[in-house]
Amino acid sequence: MQELESYFEKLGEKKFRAKQVYEWLWLKPVGSFDAMTNLSKELRKKLSDEFSLPALKVDHTQHSSDGTFKLRFKTHDGHFVEGVLIPTESGRYTACVSSQIGCSLSCKFCATGYMERKRNLEFDEIYDEVVLLNNLCEKEYGKKLSNIVFMGMGEPLLNYKNVLRSIERITAADGLAMSPRRITVSTAGVAKMIKQLGDDKVKFKLALSLHAANDQKRHEIMPVNDTNNIKSLIEALNYFYKQAKNEITFEYILFKDFNDSLKDADELIKLYRQVPADLINLIEYNPIDAARFEKPSEEKVEAFIAYLSKHRVNVRLRRSRGKDIDAACGQLANKN
Ligand code: SF4
Repeated sequence: MQELESYFEKLGEKKFRAKQVYEWLWLKPVGSFDAMTNLSKELRKKLSDEFSLPALKVDHTQHSSDGTFKLRFKTHDGHFVEGVLIPTESGRYTACVSSQIGCSLSCKFCATGYMERKRNLEFDEIYDEVVLLNNLCEKEYGKKLSNIVFMGMGEPLLNYKNVLRSIERITAADGLAMSPRRITVSTAGVAKMIKQLGDDKVKFKLALSLHAANDQKRHEIMPVNDTNNIKSLIEALNYFYKQAKNEITFEYILFKDFNDSLKDADELIKLYRQVPADLINLIEYNPIDAARFEKPSEEKVEAFIAYLSKHRVNVRLRRSRGKDIDAACGQLANKN
């Protein structure tokens, strides 16, 4: 803000211009100086001549029958990423945001995993995603976002600096002023960076996409497990908790006849006991064209949940949202 103020001062413009431009840049990203309608034409031209504006633009919007919105964003260099707005019956409005264009981790059940990783998103591009989803939320539901999850395209911990910097802006008083407790960063499991989060004493929550409770099965569906095995992840999560004292959740997608037996549940409980995890989020699998997995029957899911509950595990089933527009967990792949 100070930089903007001194810039406009040098131009002989009024001080409030800085605030106007600041709001366009950080709260109403428009993608061009020309669209900053409360500035004079001359000033807009001057800004366009001197600066470029790499803001994200909404390129395509899809609306699911369950109220979920999927936005496709276009970057200044012509790439596409997606973000999702998920309203729930409990009155929460969650934004699921992407951190990379594509993903290098190639998880077998995830549509993004079949895309090539093009590049990391910059911190302001991630922030723009959140602002644009927040603006949509206010327009459609008259509410601000209540939660943000970094569970869209890409592995957030492989774009560490930009993700943390975007969260700084999201939580800043002159940003969206959102509590970090309402933000969850989800990782496929990069042990070294989980420890780094601990060292940085971050205030947001951490979710580990576990999806299989032994190395052999996890290796089959998540190649990242080859270099970050379960033992190393357990150790990293304990370190994270010791340093940051923040909530940890396990994410576990149920795949038919792969990880949905009571023996799998037993293995999962053993891991849960080794980490100060608050919750296991069971996730309904959303089929994608490229993968061979199926979702288990309702009875199987219920038996799995009942088994975990009987063993005093705090468990919750996360039902799919936005399936009809490919906006559900694991389905983001820039497809219309
Ligand atoms: S699940 Fe996450 S880490 Fe794995 S391929 Fe998909 S986007 Fe990448």
